[in-house]
Amino acid sequence: MEPVQPIAALQDNYIWMLSRGSHAVVVDPGDAGPVIRCLQQERLHLAGILITHHHLDHRGGIPELCARYRPRVYGPHAENIPGITHPLASGDTAQFPELDLTCEVLAVPGHTRGHLAYLGWEHLFCGDTLFSAGCGRIFEGTPAEMKDSLGRLAELPETTEVCCAHEYTEDNLRFALMVEPANPILQKWAEEVTLLRARGRPSLPSTIALEKAMNPFLRSSEPSVVEAVCRRRGSAGDPLSVFTALRKWKDTF
Ligand SMILES: [Zn+2]
Repeated sequence: MEPVQPIAALQDNYIWMLSRGSHAVVVDPGDAGPVIRCLQQERLHLAGILITHHHLDHRGGIPELCARYRPRVYGPHAENIPGITHPLASGDTAQFPELDLTCEVLAVPGHTRGHLAYLGWEHLFCGDTLFSAGCGRIFEGTPAEMKDSLGRLAELPETTEVCCAHEYTEDNLRFALMVEPANPILQKWAEEVTLLRARGRPSLPSTIALEKAMNPFLRSSEPSVVEAVCRRRGSAGDPLSVFTALRKWKDTF
């Protein structure tokens, strides 16, 4: 088994599982069933759970998994999430000696106020903040906070693998291609994703390098993206106005 793998759950969620030896950690178990099946199949014990934010499709499996495996449960201290045993804030780490795994904790407000992302084994678990070719909806934060959060993720090493919590890539790519129809990296990624999805394979993980090259929400300073927003609204303004306009455009797309 791969050390990091997605477990498909609910409608279009991915629960990411990290494993080594006989132990596993899962990120955002919205549903316990698929996690239990995977743990049983691979004969793994669940050492820990990481939660990025309070939405039910990211935490709904906590009670059943806790009753069965008694894992340590890490999540944002700034959000009210029943079952968290280890509240975390930016700059903290979550340690899993059973897997020889240390996860760094990054605050990425925007989608929700206390949203966290985790970095471990050179993989980024970013919940509903960064998606391939897209970003999360801004429910509780401001566009400035979301832009800032995404900007900090974009500064991670380019080879970092991006493990998003939803399979939204095809829909995001349709929008991204409207914004930057002539971007060759975007065109190529769209072709690859069409093939992967046709075979029933996940489009993830992506990488920071790939996202920087084609995700419009990481590219609000690029002339081609500014121009697209300008064509739509008549004016573009500073990068924050471009980002805000892009997010609104995607919301109504
Ligand atoms: Zn969410």
